[in-house]
Amino acid sequence: MRADHSPGGTAADTDSVTVRDSMTTSLPPATDNPPSPDADLLAPVPDDDGAPFWEYAARGELRVQTCTDCDEPRFPPRPCCPHCQSFTAHWQRTSGRGRIWSFVVPHPPLLPAYAAQAPYNAIVVELAEAPRIRLVGNLVTAADAALNSVDPAKLRIGAPVKAVFHRTPDGLTVPRWVLERP
Ligand SMILES: [Zn+2]
Repeated sequence: MRADHSPGGTAADTDSVTVRDSMTTSLPPATDNPPSPDADLLAPVPDDDGAPFWEYAARGELRVQTCTDCDEPRFPPRPCCPHCQSFTAHWQRTSGRGRIWSFVVPHPPLLPAYAAQAPYNAIVVELAEAPRIRLVGNLVTAADAALNSVDPAKLRIGAPVKAVFHRTPDGLTVPRWVLERP
């Protein structure tokens, strides 16, 4: 389930997002607290082009790389504008609002950390300000809620959603989504 914590993109783009193999992840330090349900979920590995996405997310901002010459937003982040071939870009802040463009409800067989929370959801969100950009994520009831906190029966194509920001056990902040009208 590579796409769960990726910043998303078009369906075809999600494969270009790399995630760390959970088998190589070191375990978090032992504490008296029960482990977080997402302690063993796959985590994004920011690359140079995408690093600003994660840095803005850590500040609670959903930003999209945008060509400074032709103003076209693009995702996933990359050096060159596919429309005008400019190498000049900036990170445009968005409202964090969008609509569910598609979704799936995964069931086992899954990686153990995902199987423990199945059935949950993975949604594709079409951004309000940039409808051609679609981000993959999870619909939850609150930023830090479990992946399965939303009843799959509530999932609807076209439902308005907004981004919330969840800090993972790895210290990375990932956008998640909540319904505008729960
Ligand atoms: Zn351009």
